[in-house]
Amino acid sequence: MSTKKRAWTLKTVRDRCTIDESTDDPCWLWKQSLVNGRPQATIDGRGGTLVARWVMQQRIGNLISRYCVVNRCDDLRCINPDHLTIRTRSQVLKLAYQSGARNVFSEYLARRTEAEKRGMAKIDMGAARNLRQRMCIGHTIEALADETGLSRATLSKIKNGKIWREIGSFGNALGSAA
Ligand SMILES: [Zn+2]
Repeated sequence: MSTKKRAWTLKTVRDRCTIDESTDDPCWLWKQSLVNGRPQATIDGRGGTLVARWVMQQRIGNLISRYCVVNRCDDLRCINPDHLTIRTRSQVLKLAYQSGARNVFSEYLARRTEAEKRGMAKIDMGAARNLRQRMCIGHTIEALADETGLSRATLSKIKNGKIWREIGSFGNALGSAA
């Protein structure tokens, strides 16, 4: 008799779930270990396998590496293949932003504050605004580079609003008319 364990099947997975058969379209709720709320297991010798991902892989094969697996039923413990779906990473991010789970604006501010704290930024928003206004009224990048010690590339990015961009007041980027 072979000592090799039988390969996992969907039934192996299903047998490890609590399933309320009295309902129409029941969730398969994983009874075993969860990591960050998601079912994980050693499947076919591979530890730390995300069970939902493994389940979807049975459906779409190696394509899986391109996709995130998400729950449509909002219960992360559920691994019913009919309750799982796939999305590209950018779709997942977009949905997260739409739902408010992530916020582009606050993340941008947090990153900027973090960069300032670490001393990565040699200037602050006020200085950038001042430089942008001066470039708009004719101060050259070369002159400002000599004056401030900033690189021409940095100044050019400030001028074009690629860095230190005004948020929520694009109209003021050129300085308000007096
Ligand atoms: Zn479900």
